Amino acid sequence: MSSSVTEEAVETGITEGGNPSAFRDVLAKNHHARRKPPQHFVDMTKEERAAAMKELGLPAFRASQLSHHYFAHMTTNPEDFTDIPAAKRDELANRFFPTLITPLLVQTADAGTTVKTLWELFDGSRIESVLMRYPNRTTLCISSQVGCGMGCPFCATGKLGLTRNMSTGEILEQVRAAAVAMRDGQVAGGPGRLSNIVFMGMGEPMANYKSVLSAVRQISALPPAGFGISARNITVSTVGVVPGIKKLTMEGIPLRLAVSLHAPTNQLRDELVPMNRRFNVDQVLDAAHDYYLASKRRVSIEYALMRGINDQAEHAHELAKRLNHYGDDWVHVNPIPLNPIEGSRWTASKKEDEQAFIEILHRAGIAATMRDTRGDEIDGACGQLAAKSLVTNPSQPLATVTNR
Ligand code: SF4
Repeated sequence: MSSSVTEEAVETGITEGGNPSAFRDVLAKNHHARRKPPQHFVDMTKEERAAAMKELGLPAFRASQLSHHYFAHMTTNPEDFTDIPAAKRDELANRFFPTLITPLLVQTADAGTTVKTLWELFDGSRIESVLMRYPNRTTLCISSQVGCGMGCPFCATGKLGLTRNMSTGEILEQVRAAAVAMRDGQVAGGPGRLSNIVFMGMGEPMANYKSVLSAVRQISALPPAGFGISARNITVSTVGVVPGIKKLTMEGIPLRLAVSLHAPTNQLRDELVPMNRRFNVDQVLDAAHDYYLASKRRVSIEYALMRGINDQAEHAHELAKRLNHYGDDWVHVNPIPLNPIEGSRWTASKKEDEQAFIEILHRAGIAATMRDTRGDEIDGACGQLAAKSLVTNPSQPLATVTNR
């Protein structure tokens, strides 16, 4: 398949010859008609930044100064641009740093060390990010699309469908906001540093490949070209968009790849993850294993445990068999207790089934750790905060909710 994968297929995830009715299109049909977010400094190439400076009658080196303000000082406030002529500061801030995300609702849990933010975008769309502080690292889970077109029936974001792709600026602003909150001691535990990024919020990152990759490059580049968070500490997850995995393999960036498998057989996965009808379990695992071989980074296999559906001993044995087929220690399985969406028939596994599932994997020599369910009490399921807010209160005011 790889030889015939076109650029367009990678962008859309839709490959020639596939069955278009097998899953909802990765991108909504009218996504091109949607207004684009205002162009932000980080959406521009070096040349574009220089050309924009010229239009404003300024030399190109002013772009380097802005880069320093944005990535090193993490500020877009013109009052901080003290190395730039005072008469030009507001104009530069307006041109290069439009407001792309505005907090609508902030929820905290785990004694303030988990912070979930619902953001409003320029067109009223809503996305979310979750910051999780641990003793030795702080991880931010970010969104890359508004909604998701993959249609997994157990998922709140899947129920929203896909509105549009997010721009690099919209993705990076989530990172900057969290990095500033950590630096300035706004998260329980005092000042610290944002160290890890996971693309596991709303959306399928591989379906917004260009913007996601540009964001990854700018998150990992050293200041003043980027935020300086090591690529090794960035995880990109996918539900199994094989052309995207292949393209990522070619990039040679030492990211961690996470694959949301959720089922070990095609029969079951067809039901849980509609994308499987386009790229089946073998194709997805082959591509993921190739990624491991090229990157030498163990691949994470995400597996949401659903009671009586995919959490039985037979599923664990089948999963172990499929993964061990490659014969090397190439994966780390993260079973995740499903955080069920309200009114859904998909519910969380029993504790004893979760335990048995992990033990079977361990006995088969597979590294596996039950995933932390931080933020459970604040609607921690993927996309759930945005989904609930959209359904119940479309004009939610800015508010802070503390659960503990
Ligand atoms: S589980 Fe992931 S891929 Fe599936 S609909 Fe939800 S966000 Fe999309």
